[in-house]
Amino acid sequence: MFIDSHCHLNFPELAADLGGVTGAMAANKVTHALCVSVNLETFPEVLAVAERFPNVFASTGVHPDDRSGEEPDAARLVKLASHPKVVAIGETGLDYYRVEGDSEWQRERFRTHIRAARQAGKPLIIHTREAAADTIRIMQEERAAEIGGVMHCFTETAEVAWQAMDMNFMISFSGIVTFKNATALKDVARKVPLEKMLIETDSPYLAPVPYRGKINQPAYVRFVAEEIARLKGISIESVAEATSTSFFRLFKATRQSEA
Ligand SMILES: [Zn+2]
Ligand SMILES: [Zn+2]
Repeated sequence: MFIDSHCHLNFPELAADLGGVTGAMAANKVTHALCVSVNLETFPEVLAVAERFPNVFASTGVHPDDRSGEEPDAARLVKLASHPKVVAIGETGLDYYRVEGDSEWQRERFRTHIRAARQAGKPLIIHTREAAADTIRIMQEERAAEIGGVMHCFTETAEVAWQAMDMNFMISFSGIVTFKNATALKDVARKVPLEKMLIETDSPYLAPVPYRGKINQPAYVRFVAEEIARLKGISIESVAEATSTSFFRLFKATRQSEA
């Protein structure tokens, strides 16, 4: 069994055919998925998917790229996280790739999410892009280690991976690890211990090889598992087993929710 620890099933590319998407999951032994929130305006859609499908979980949070909607405070996030299908806070973090001008608002928002996660007792889903040093520093300053979580769609160095693992964070690999030119990331995947890894699609984006450039979906997470097995020289079954066990441990999600 495989678990997609990070996808966006409420995005139009996937929401248009959720029956087909979940059918493909079942056909590929992808038993569960975590549908990740990117803003408060669409959070009800995320929750609706998780309520409709017993094997889909939800998170609540506002993405560092999102400037359109309501700015959350910690109390609001804690309240939204009290829903039994909400297993995490995020995605949150820092993204300096797209930000223009002053980025202090991103760091403030990130701090708010870490505080909310500690209050809610739910782990963090952290997104970081061209901002690794500040991401790690704020995680340390806000004591993110007390709650832990996952560095999603990891593309940073082994050094950053170890800094995050030292704070009780898992490292999640996406379809990027299957890309031919991702040699540095492949090397990080060889080094990160299997028991500290999760796998994800970040669908509908970042489809793995052999679907690169197409619309991604949770069923394709098996290609990520295949590549990690190849890189580590281990069986795909052991990757599936370890990453699924870690998913349930981290998110305290119950297998009863299996469809
Ligand atoms: Zn992200
Ligand atoms: Zn995402």
